[in-house]
Amino acid sequence: MINILKKSLTAVAAAVLIGSAYFIIGILLFSNTLYNDLNTQNLEKAVKVYGSFTPSLVFNDRNVLTAWASGIEEDLYRVTLINRRGEVIFDTVADSLTMENHLDRPEFQAAISGGIATARRESATLGQDFIYAAMAIYDSDHRFAGVVRLSILVPGFHSRLLNSALPFLLGGFVIVLLICVGLYGFSRRLSYSAEKKLGAELKKKTNELKTKTEQAEIEDRRREVILNSMFDGVIATDSDLKIILANPRLCSLFNVKNEEEVLGRHLLLFSRSTELEETAQKVLSTGLPAELILKRYLPGAAGDRFPQHYQVYAAPLKGGSDSPVPIQGVVIVMNDISRLVKLEQVRKDFAANVSHELRTPIQVIKGFAENILLSSLDDKDEIRHFAGFITKNTETMENLTTDLMTLVSLEDESKPRPPMEEYQLLPLIAEAVSIVEVAAQKKNISIETSCPSEISAKLYGSLIVQAMVNLLDNSIKYSKHNSKIRISVFSENEKLIIGVKDKGIGIPAEHLERLFERFYRVDRSRQKTDGSRDIGGTGLGLSIVRHIALLHKGNAEVESHAGEGSVFRLILPI
Ligand code: ADP
Repeated sequence: MINILKKSLTAVAAAVLIGSAYFIIGILLFSNTLYNDLNTQNLEKAVKVYGSFTPSLVFNDRNVLTAWASGIEEDLYRVTLINRRGEVIFDTVADSLTMENHLDRPEFQAAISGGIATARRESATLGQDFIYAAMAIYDSDHRFAGVVRLSILVPGFHSRLLNSALPFLLGGFVIVLLICVGLYGFSRRLSYSAEKKLGAELKKKTNELKTKTEQAEIEDRRREVILNSMFDGVIATDSDLKIILANPRLCSLFNVKNEEEVLGRHLLLFSRSTELEETAQKVLSTGLPAELILKRYLPGAAGDRFPQHYQVYAAPLKGGSDSPVPIQGVVIVMNDISRLVKLEQVRKDFAANVSHELRTPIQVIKGFAENILLSSLDDKDEIRHFAGFITKNTETMENLTTDLMTLVSLEDESKPRPPMEEYQLLPLIAEAVSIVEVAAQKKNISIETSCPSEISAKLYGSLIVQAMVNLLDNSIKYSKHNSKIRISVFSENEKLIIGVKDKGIGIPAEHLERLFERFYRVDRSRQKTDGSRDIGGTGLGLSIVRHIALLHKGNAEVESHAGEGSVFRLILPI
């Protein structure tokens, strides 16, 4: 901007100066030409007059010349007579005798050709600028006799002007040039100081801007790092509840790929939760924070059964003190508490189950004890009968507490455990079989074992025995008399697989998924194969099996068909 101003100012100044100089010079030259033309015309007229009264004899006869010359009273023009040989015979200004031959003078040469000739040149005699007009004189025989010449000095001013026109022009140029250079320098200095000031200010402002931008970038990065590394999902909306920010955790909670899929969407359409939308509206209208526990049912069977739970904090997104809109949106922080809620639920279920499982035998024991108290005490058989029930239910309670203690000990991750040891599988299986042998014999159930003797693995030996006992115990309980149970042990793909297969009552498909849960039983009213009710079990046996498998970083599986039998497998990494 400054540069353009500076250049245009200089150009205008130069143009004005050059223009003025040319104009003045032009006027002077014009006036000079005009003056000369006028003089020439007058001279031509005057020479004509002189010519008319100059006789040709004047060039040949001395007396005639003297008479002619005495009649000349000329103070305006210089009068010269030149004979046909070019010799000056008379001159009003210079001594004719000393003057050189004028044969070569242009006006003389021109006059010979006839008419009046004019010329403007420097006089060789006087060394000054003259305008000449010459007229040829002829004798009575029309022979050329000589020339009358009038001349006038180009006045001093005009002459000087003419002579100095070029230097003047050059001088003018130099002056204009100097003025231009001066003006340019001046404007440059002016603009330089302005530029310098402006430059310093610009630099300061640029630095300030740079610092602010850098700070904003650092702030942005810091915010991004915090948001990205947060375990909570964060979502921010504008005052129309359109989403303007979402962190990666939130995207993963809502199963979306990235922020772009969320931005610009309405909170209700995105979350599909009227509860969340109403809470956000409340925050917008009151300007106060609000909380809620949000339940979401994720697609899929597991999700349908147990919803996801989020602890939601919603707070107003306040504008700055100078902002015209005090609340610009809502910030929502979502903490996934599904695991906590689930654990809490498990804890509650566990307490309810334990008390329920204990209540039944306790009530039975209480009832039979009361019967004994009310009886006559004479009937020993009756008392023995009552005592038998009491003993059986005490055993149930004992089993339950034993299983519970086993489970608690298996679940306790803080408990120090000795390292696993290398065991041959065959002796471990044999030990488990020997423990359930009596029960099997009672139902005439044979147990077959297929286990290569060389198979060994690093294990918690006693726990594997316990898991096998639980599985065999169930198979015996839920198999008919005279049936077979088959144990097979083999290794496959770096895994040790221990299977227990029976041809018992089997398990309906809908129960299989939850079978390994604590206290889960297929059907409490279901009769065992010996006709007794399924009250002796604790519902913890398979849960213990699964925990033992997990402790070995393996798993437990079941395959079963109602009425056909079941296969339970322990799959352990080798
Ligand atoms: P319980 O102590 O009641 O046997 P478990 O956890 O060992 O508890 O078993 C859970 C349920 O799974 C049992 O109540 C039973 O109905 C069923 N079940 C376990 N093993 C078998 C099997 N081999 N055949 C049929 N049903 C079985």
